Amino acid sequence: MNRQMVLKLGIGGLIALLLIVVLFNHFEAETEELKVLTTYSIIDDLVSSVAGDRIETDYIVPLGAEPEEFEPLPENMQQVDGADLIIYNGLGIERWLENLINNVNPEQKMAKATEGIEPFYLDEGSFQGTPDPHAWFDPILVKDFYLPNIRDALIDLDPANEEYYRERTKQQQKKLLELHYWIEDELEALAREDRVLVSSEGAFRYFCEAYEFEEGFIWQINAHEEGTPQQIADLVDLIRDRDVGAVFVETSVDHRPMKQVAEETDIPIGGELYSDSLGEAGSSGETYLKLMEHNVSLIVESLKE
Ligand SMILES: [Zn+2]
Repeated sequence: MNRQMVLKLGIGGLIALLLIVVLFNHFEAETEELKVLTTYSIIDDLVSSVAGDRIETDYIVPLGAEPEEFEPLPENMQQVDGADLIIYNGLGIERWLENLINNVNPEQKMAKATEGIEPFYLDEGSFQGTPDPHAWFDPILVKDFYLPNIRDALIDLDPANEEYYRERTKQQQKKLLELHYWIEDELEALAREDRVLVSSEGAFRYFCEAYEFEEGFIWQINAHEEGTPQQIADLVDLIRDRDVGAVFVETSVDHRPMKQVAEETDIPIGGELYSDSLGEAGSSGETYLKLMEHNVSLIVESLKE
């Protein structure tokens, strides 16, 4: 073998190797799963319910934490960096999100799950006049806005699976309508005057408006001061005035202020509602649908005469 032949074989080998690498990368790019990052577990569950097995999802705010008070960590920048799309609630609950995105990729593809919803507005505290973000507590808003917005964003990201996302959205919308009728049936056990829902954070306005409850809370949104003496005194007045049967704490907030209210008014704490976070896997709050069933069952059980 002369030198020239060795060189030829060498170059041929190199070209073959390059081809293999290029083909392999191409194959990888085609089969690599799309990643959607969501802001917190409740949004994540709604996105997963449409995305099914076609898209991998992950969320930023850990289970049990308040999305209002979240402070991003370096690992969240990595999550954003690896995301093909970010889906968020909007209505001001993720005030930390814009900075996080701008620090990683200002061109990041984003979709707002509450697009088109006419929100209620906060009427007290330092966020007075800004939207109340907890719209997911009205299942009809989830059916008519969250799911279609999520569906359209996923189709835009992954048009090849359009029919799959449309079909799953329809199935999920059917479940939400069933949930709505189930809630109406369950609540028939409660007389009008028993329909007062008292929680630590005023996270249940959309639920209360949809199902004709009066709402009581210590603070209106987690971003406020939580549990000042004045806030507690005002709630104690409301509870005495309306002869409320039970009050509730939430899984994602401090229970102490409500314990103080319960002691001062001598009425029981009915139990823990899920508000801004799903529960752990295996718990009664592990999906949005289960969380709603848990909340409604607990409310009825605790407020029934
Ligand atoms: Zn909240």
